[in-house]
Amino acid sequence: MGTSPRPRLLVVDDEPSICELIGDVATVVGFDVETASTANEIDTRLGNGHDVVFLDLHLGGRDGISVMKTLAARSPGARVVLVSGASDRIIASADRVGEMYGLEVLGTCQKPFSLKQMRSLLEDCRVSAMEPQLAGQTRPSLRDLMSDLVVADLTMAYQPVVRLSDGAVVGAEALVRWSHPEFGSVSPADFVPHLERMGRSRELLTHVASEVARERAEVASLAALDDLAINVSARDLSLSDTPDILREILTETAPASNWTLELTESAAIGAAVSALDVMTRLSLMYFSLAIDDFGTGSSTLERLRWYPFTTLKIDQSFITANSIQSADDWIIVESAVDMGHRLGLAITAEGVEDAPVLARLKELGCDRAQGYLVSRPVPAEKFAATCDEWASRNSSAEQPV
Ligand code: C2E
Ligand code: MG
Ligand code: MG
Repeated sequence: MGTSPRPRLLVVDDEPSICELIGDVATVVGFDVETASTANEIDTRLGNGHDVVFLDLHLGGRDGISVMKTLAARSPGARVVLVSGASDRIIASADRVGEMYGLEVLGTCQKPFSLKQMRSLLEDCRVSAMEPQLAGQTRPSLRDLMSDLVVADLTMAYQPVVRLSDGAVVGAEALVRWSHPEFGSVSPADFVPHLERMGRSRELLTHVASEVARERAEVASLAALDDLAINVSARDLSLSDTPDILREILTETAPASNWTLELTESAAIGAAVSALDVMTRLSLMYFSLAIDDFGTGSSTLERLRWYPFTTLKIDQSFITANSIQSADDWIIVESAVDMGHRLGLAITAEGVEDAPVLARLKELGCDRAQGYLVSRPVPAEKFAATCDEWASRNSSAEQPV
């Protein structure tokens, strides 16, 4: 039996003692370690095919951000962990910068750290380092894969939405899925924007609406929901026949008031008069309109008053376990809930991954929640079982919703 090679770690820190400390723990965890403390060492060792780079953000004369930029240029998609004595907030913004440069930020670590914390971080990194690298390195680029996409083959998955007052499943969001025959599942966050750029969003919308209407008619647990949501691309908001097409396809299965159309914040608010026209006609037909990914665009709540939304979905980047780490993060959520309510909108939080977050959202008066804590998106035939499973977990929880 062959032994698998040890993953390679580079530790970049201007304090040699910290390099040595992280290096010792990493060696125990199973890495081959190199370190770089001086400018010369950093220049020669950075980007030499390490599986993971631990990077201090304060490097004496040089700042860690410029080192990240060099790393991204030499090894696109490299995996990094950011280490710093700076505040959570500064580390979080450095994390974003790393992602903007196309690096895969595996984690962050605030100094001083305990050996136990460092060991567990390194163990997680070792697991990630053994996985194939993301983005184009083990499979063809998305652009190449797109030529294999047949819209008619796309399937739908459904994620339950629960009411926070009692934990009941009151709705679901339909999310499109593509399983490439050779390379497996491809995220809609990647292929939907491609379809949009290729001018195929209308084809996608028609397929998604037809599939969801068909499955809602056939599957009792979906038919029983008060509300089922589908996502609508920005481009469809500028096409004047969108309301008629959606009415024709969707209302055959359920009245318009039992359907929600989710529009991203940037699409809806950044759009021209034609989008407002389409949205107004959809709401006159009694469809509910949700503003999706709220908080990621540039709208002010004030401007939202002019749009006929019924629901505001707080983007998961404010809610997931990774994001909610400080009191500051809650301030954003709290004010979105408060102002959304004042504008008469129902508030849904997306990306709820753990019970304490769910409990806090309930305290803040948020109306509904959706996230992996309740269930991942599942195919229609598994929807009933996933809701039953949540109901039994919720009723046996110490503090049910
Ligand atoms: P979205 O509409 O904001 O959908 C929510 C995304 O959050 C989904 O990703 C869902 O799987 C993910 N999610 C839900 N709960 C959690 C959680 O607890 N933690 C984390 N980390 N993630 C969670 P998904 O399915 O990959 O979809 C990504 C985006 O692709 C969607 O964001 C939506 O903008 C777009 N999309 C999906 N389906 C369609 C579609 O049928 N049509 C159009 N135009 N866009 C779609
Ligand atoms: Mg959505
Ligand atoms: Mg969203």
